[in-house]
Amino acid sequence: MNLTAKVLIGMGLGMIVGLTLNWSGTNVDGSFTNQYVVNGLFHTVGALFINALRMLVVPLVLFSLICGVCGIGDIKLLGRIGSKSFALYMMTTAVAIATAITIAAVFEIGKGMNAPTDAVFNAQTPPPLSQVLIDIIPTNPIQAMANGEMLSIIFFAMMVGISILLVGKKAKGLVENVELMNEVMMKMVGIVMSLAPYAVFCLLARAMANLGMELLWQLIWYVSVLVGALMFHMLITLQGTLMIFSGLNPIKFLKKMRNAQIFAFSTSSSNATIPVTLRTVTNRLGVNNSVASFTVPFGATINMDGTAIMQGVATVFIANVYGVDLGISGYLTVILMSVLASIGTAGVPGVGLIMLSMVFAQVGLPMEGIGLILGVDRILDMIRTSVNVTGDAVVSAIVAKSEGKFNMDIFNDPDAGLIDESETQVDIDDEKELAEAVTSTANN
Ligand code: ASP
Repeated sequence: MNLTAKVLIGMGLGMIVGLTLNWSGTNVDGSFTNQYVVNGLFHTVGALFINALRMLVVPLVLFSLICGVCGIGDIKLLGRIGSKSFALYMMTTAVAIATAITIAAVFEIGKGMNAPTDAVFNAQTPPPLSQVLIDIIPTNPIQAMANGEMLSIIFFAMMVGISILLVGKKAKGLVENVELMNEVMMKMVGIVMSLAPYAVFCLLARAMANLGMELLWQLIWYVSVLVGALMFHMLITLQGTLMIFSGLNPIKFLKKMRNAQIFAFSTSSSNATIPVTLRTVTNRLGVNNSVASFTVPFGATINMDGTAIMQGVATVFIANVYGVDLGISGYLTVILMSVLASIGTAGVPGVGLIMLSMVFAQVGLPMEGIGLILGVDRILDMIRTSVNVTGDAVVSAIVAKSEGKFNMDIFNDPDAGLIDESETQVDIDDEKELAEAVTSTANN
């Protein structure tokens, strides 16, 4: 059985166990199950796994991007990849939110609902765009890596790569070593991914056990329209964009994306999913590392189609609940603000709500409105993160295809890049040889 099948089983079982605990009323605050199983065992295993993924992000992005820049062989191409992916990321996000607003307006969600007076939400302020731009150049690259500041890490890694290219032939040894480090990190991604079936079980069992069911029913219209808009964007808009711009087969693409989508769903974080997205995009889809090593971390940071859709639907919903008429100019402001907000906020769990408060402040919607949808946001975050990651992969494939950096043989091979048992098994002969080599170097 391949890994995806195992992870899907873990996911299904996790949902069943979690929902059973929720429905049976076993998971009440202070109960044994709540304390030791849901918030004990499930939480610990899930958190260990997310930590393991996040541990890989910074070194992987650093090494793969240095390799990517060195492997590109043409600095001008770098500029083209950067501008094409930026334009596509912004365009897809704008289309996403416009679609969401339209769908939500057609269904008139929230009309006739009474505005609650007890909802609370403490707005957090996201950084202003000027600061985001200034921070792209880190004053201390080590600190940027320690804090996981993705745009700064991308900038630094690209500068290292460009400088290596300028040093030229002399740096060949260095490049080979960085390539090896990249291979080592990718191996580590394989090891962590092979543990996913158990971790995904725990993550989903906990999320479902803690789900606020009553709230879900109260907000069923909001949730249904939002999920519908997310599916529309992922299956129609994004796949249409992929077909028009790259001619690739969307069915094959979606099949190969399954793993990355499940990881995004289970972790609710595009950032923590970077290692899996990068591996999927290069080894399963056929995007060359020189493109993917840039577009994937860049997309995880600035491209959030799913989050933009949530903002569009939430804005219409709250405006209707509070009886505010935003008008065309109000909605245009929402579109602009959402696109800008997505640049400044990284792909981590729940960040969509922070972006939403920025949008609300701009168009004058009551902040308490966010309190209303807070309770169901956890589950919606999971779904929209999968859409975010799918958008990153679509743009990576389009850019790579347009620059001749796409391997059709990999794309057409259904088994390309699948993780199997051999991933985590040591080759005894290889191991011995390596150990001998190390000992002899030490003796010299
Ligand atoms: N969790 C989302 C992501 O990481 C962001 C959000 O919508 O909250 O992509």
